[in-house]
Amino acid sequence: MKYKSYQLHNYTTIKGIDKLSATERKAVDITGQVLPFKVNNYVAEQLIDWNNIPEDPIYTLCFPRKEMLQTHHFEQVERLMDTGAGAAELKKTTDMIRKELNPHPSGQHLNVPQIDNIRLTGMQHKYRTTVLFFPSQGQTCHAYCTFCFRWNQFSGMDGMRFAMKETELLVKYLKQHREVTDVLITGGDPLTMSASCLSGYMDALLDNGLCHIQTIRIGTKAFAYWPYRFLSDPDSDALMRIFEKVVQSGKSLAIMAHFNHPRELTTNAVQEAIRRVHSTGVIIRTQSPLLNHINNDPDVWAEMWRQQVNLNCIPYYMFVARDTGAKEFFSIPLVDCWDLFRKACGQVSGICCTVRGPSMSATPGKVQILGVNEDRGEKVFVLRFLQGRNPDWVHRPFFAKYDPEATWFDMLKPAFGKEKFFFEDNAVLDK
Ligand SMILES: *Cc1c(COP(=O)(O)O)cnc(C)c1O
Ligand code: SF4
Repeated sequence: MKYKSYQLHNYTTIKGIDKLSATERKAVDITGQVLPFKVNNYVAEQLIDWNNIPEDPIYTLCFPRKEMLQTHHFEQVERLMDTGAGAAELKKTTDMIRKELNPHPSGQHLNVPQIDNIRLTGMQHKYRTTVLFFPSQGQTCHAYCTFCFRWNQFSGMDGMRFAMKETELLVKYLKQHREVTDVLITGGDPLTMSASCLSGYMDALLDNGLCHIQTIRIGTKAFAYWPYRFLSDPDSDALMRIFEKVVQSGKSLAIMAHFNHPRELTTNAVQEAIRRVHSTGVIIRTQSPLLNHINNDPDVWAEMWRQQVNLNCIPYYMFVARDTGAKEFFSIPLVDCWDLFRKACGQVSGICCTVRGPSMSATPGKVQILGVNEDRGEKVFVLRFLQGRNPDWVHRPFFAKYDPEATWFDMLKPAFGKEKFFFEDNAVLDK
């Protein structure tokens, strides 16, 4: 299949689009001014069920819907478009709305490391052993998710891209940080870049001076959005050779594959792509946020994990949807996230339950919701860190006041009348 991309200016030429009502089209045109919108022929022709729109989960995953914006934002853009406002005026308004949508959730900009007083804006180093790297050529995706917390990277706003070209600085930084064992190449989707470009980054990481780097991870949604990346793109074979080279060098190469719905695992193309990548020795782990309107159902998760395990992939993370972008549309109360996780795990064998979650990537770390409990007459959330800014915080159970409406970590208060959570009181831990 040859890649064909659709955006606001040409999506009306998609096969099946005649199923979209005039109202729904207008919603795409308006909401798409604020949320990034891009879809391709594979997603449109093989994944979306055009007989079930707008409720179809894959349609909702890629197409902007009216309910994804707050009503007053939607009406603001609608008014400008109805009165034929110019591009400059429209952009001013949509930039302003985007700024209100929390484009940098959980203090991501706090994690930018420095070397020789240069801020390495294409990197984040939050947890001791793992560095994230955002190669500048990989800051786009084969299609865009409407819930994406990295959407600001695509919206063309100045100064908001975490990207850099300087491989040398990455290598220099890693040489000075022997505690780092994992480099996670992420984006956007790094597998939108060419094999030759990726090869440059990989060769740098295979440098003799970096034997403390044991695992290279690549975060990608290419299996779900463009499996032909691994099969029939002009440089698919070259990509397989890169994977083989890394594995043969003695490092582990792990692909963190992003899947949101079991339907993404059902096509011949994705199944062949997974088989082909496995044949290079790469390990595929899977992850997804829990999203209202897309996968808010324990059966959907159990089915997704079963299919992944059948395809020899390892379920890894279930995330709570971040507090950014269209969060009101996608968010689910934490208590329901936990209940769903519990019910999904109850349906599958232990092999499927390698997944860690539900997990919130919050400012102090990744916080897992272990459950709801009643202790000393008080109903509480039991939580723990899966990853923490301070490694000593990891896997210590702690408690927050039960709040049936809370959808994110910031909304929680310490339980048992305490003023602070244990990790807010560094004196206790940095003794
Ligand atoms: C999740 C995450 C990692 C990787 O954590 P693991 O628990 O090792 O998978 C690294 N850095 C950041 C900022 C993350 O959010
Ligand atoms: S594939 Fe990942 S980075 Fe790309 S739009 Fe989706 S969530 Fe965002």
